[in-house]
Amino acid sequence: MDFEKILPHVEIPPNALRLLSKPERELRVNLSLLADGEQMIEAPCYVVYHSTCRGPAKGGIRLSAGVTMEDTRALAELMTWKTALVGAPFGGGKSGICCDPRSLGQFQRTALIKEYVHAIRSELDSGAYVPAPDLGTRPRDMAVIYGETHRLETVTGKPPSVGGLPGRNEATGYGVAFAAGAACREFLGRDIAGLKVAVQGFGNVGSWTCKFLADAGAQIIAVATKRAGVHNDAGLDISAMRKYAGDSGQVEGFKGGDEISNADLLAMKCDVLIPAAIECALTGANAEKVRAKIVIEGANGPATPEADVILDRMEIRVVPDILANSGGVIASYVEWRNAKSGSLTSETETYEAIRERMTPAFARMTQLAAERRISLRLAARAVACSELVQAMRDRAWI
Ligand code: NAD
Repeated sequence: MDFEKILPHVEIPPNALRLLSKPERELRVNLSLLADGEQMIEAPCYVVYHSTCRGPAKGGIRLSAGVTMEDTRALAELMTWKTALVGAPFGGGKSGICCDPRSLGQFQRTALIKEYVHAIRSELDSGAYVPAPDLGTRPRDMAVIYGETHRLETVTGKPPSVGGLPGRNEATGYGVAFAAGAACREFLGRDIAGLKVAVQGFGNVGSWTCKFLADAGAQIIAVATKRAGVHNDAGLDISAMRKYAGDSGQVEGFKGGDEISNADLLAMKCDVLIPAAIECALTGANAEKVRAKIVIEGANGPATPEADVILDRMEIRVVPDILANSGGVIASYVEWRNAKSGSLTSETETYEAIRERMTPAFARMTQLAAERRISLRLAARAVACSELVQAMRDRAWI
């Protein structure tokens, strides 16, 4: 994080700055398994705790051919700000397993996840790190982790049939839609019903975001995934599109609109743009083309620092990832709490918990941004930093 920009807005003692400027712990292990014949599957694996001053390191497992230690470090840091901002009693962590999930059959995939557990068993058994799904991993992988540890609180994002939370799968999209609604009320002075929304990504986050926004009466006018997308200025039929994407694994070819490119989607004239797919979707090269009034960061890190400067100059409000996509970690907190206490929660209560955590965080962020005339991202990080500094003081770390 660029602490220089935050320091004028929040008091961060030098020792806290030292601690927050680098990860607390980094592990690198090589996972390997002998598959069929002599074929060896090897996967470098990274686990990073950025900060545990507010609780166990919390963060998902990314299973991807391209993931690096650097990515894992950056994502762990984001989790530190996110958990602090929404007041979940966790720190920030992340795992990266460098392997293409499409290259694995189910048997190999399960074996690889079991290897992961063996490699970091002491971290999991002590409760110091609590993983969850991220790109490339899914609830079933979390159920495998549970099966290896026999403790439900070891991992979140499990299927509801194995100690998972009703609503956990939908939680991030629910929170993104909630943040979009709050931002429209705050900055446009009206509800999201009837407003035009464009969404990049139609995976877990994108598709549930679309569903909840459509339920709230928003018009989802464009959706795009990696290859292409679909546009209909009168609004796409999201339930038909979810069915189509579920059957075909793509959104292009959906009959309810015209085909568009990913670049068209990002430059679409709309009220709200939601990048909910990948990092660095908005860059110095394309941010100037954005014609939305509000950007809601569904993905982690979808805008580069260069894009951020441009969007700020264009007076486009950007609700940062650490607030916008925090619904997932809030639901994870409820799942973890239930596992420890033995209590059960309904889907409605999961959504209630998300609203309860996000509402004050949103208010603190917007209030500080208005008082200091700073971006929402800077304000959100300043609020998170003040929580982290308080925890460090309370633990006699500084
Ligand atoms: P996912 O794999 O389910 O879906 C990703 C979507 O992005 C797919 O529709 C895919 O086609 C699309 N996509 C991939 N590459 C693209 C590209 N180059 N251009 C446009 N679209 C592309 O992943 P997800 O779980 O929905 O996660 C999306 C983002 O949200 C990630 O940044 C992730 O870290 C973040 N996030 C996810 C959760 C969660 O609970 N799943 C929580 C917080 C943050």
